[in-house]
Amino acid sequence: MRLAIRAQTLYDGTAAAPRTDVRLLVEGGRIVCVAGGEERFDAECTYEAACVTPGLINSHAHLEANGEPDIMSVYLLRTPLERTLDSVKNARLAVEAGVTTLRDLGAAESNAIALRDAIARGDHVGPTIVPAGRAICMTGGHGFFIGRETDGPWDARKAVREQRKAGAGCIKLIATGGVLTKGAVPGQDQLSEEEMRAAVVEAQTHGLRVAAHAIGTNGIKNALRAGVTSIEHGHLLDDEAIALFKERGTYLVPTLAAVWRIYENIATGAQPDYVVRKATEIYQQAGENLRKAWRAGVTVAGGSDAGTPYNRHEDYAYEVELMSTVLGMTPHQALTAATATAGELLGVEAGVLAEGRPADLLLLDRDAGADVRALREPRVVIKAGAVVRERP
Ligand SMILES: [Zn+2]
Repeated sequence: MRLAIRAQTLYDGTAAAPRTDVRLLVEGGRIVCVAGGEERFDAECTYEAACVTPGLINSHAHLEANGEPDIMSVYLLRTPLERTLDSVKNARLAVEAGVTTLRDLGAAESNAIALRDAIARGDHVGPTIVPAGRAICMTGGHGFFIGRETDGPWDARKAVREQRKAGAGCIKLIATGGVLTKGAVPGQDQLSEEEMRAAVVEAQTHGLRVAAHAIGTNGIKNALRAGVTSIEHGHLLDDEAIALFKERGTYLVPTLAAVWRIYENIATGAQPDYVVRKATEIYQQAGENLRKAWRAGVTVAGGSDAGTPYNRHEDYAYEVELMSTVLGMTPHQALTAATATAGELLGVEAGVLAEGRPADLLLLDRDAGADVRALREPRVVIKAGAVVRERP
């Protein structure tokens, strides 16, 4: 399959200035030629768009969750088969909305792993998935219902080995309490630094990158010192944490939509009181803390925690908007966080439009660098050189 696309404005995913009047040639699922202006180009353009960007990368999602107001009930009441079917549905919704790569950071069964393989075979439509398998947490820890409970460094290593055996493409650790688990306190430490360091060493041995859920100040620093690749949430970080982020080159995935969607939907009355209370406390501090981290030069990668209350897989564009409005990124910087930087974090080739890279791209009606809301409704979504969705 061969596709030729003309872009009035092209963002390649990186911080490089956008190019105007560019033509892309796609063949065998990859970009084989990027030509500007008068450069020779050996094909008739089949598509034209005001703006072309890489497909979006959501570094933090839970495919088996649908944005239900009470997430614990989903796991306690729904069967594994029902959750697997939801994962298949959500993978399709995500890619149709422009998310061509997605990291699943914790699922109760190995459904995201099986779905990754089924999508790669072409049996189902969805993003390229980098799945963590079960989240590794302390006994009774945050997210235990999607977790592999562990206690002690050697058992933490074993928990990593189990996820690898199941086919995981990355590892998720739980460093602090969280919002959606009843009884978990976001500010409190959970896995110890020693346990996380053991897990990180084991994961590195097998070439697996490690994401740590960390909201509380001390737990963020424990995870940073343990050597994780990314801190997920990071909402209560302080100056010392910012220094550690920079010193170690750790990525920050702010998952703003997870907090904002809970806060915006308090009036529904459908969310448990403990969720509303914890999210409200975090909402009051997260924006300022994360903005400070971004301004100080911490590397931020896009991830929305899709699946959490009212935070849908097809709504990742909202996270990109929040990175711009809350953190103070320019629209171009927010786009880069959700494409090239997220791709670097995941260790995938996607996220950058250049010769030899996967042909995962979006055709937009407006310039996303002028207004990031242009990402809300891509006119055409292309994944691995094939048209996934085309708006009439
Ligand atoms: Zn999550």
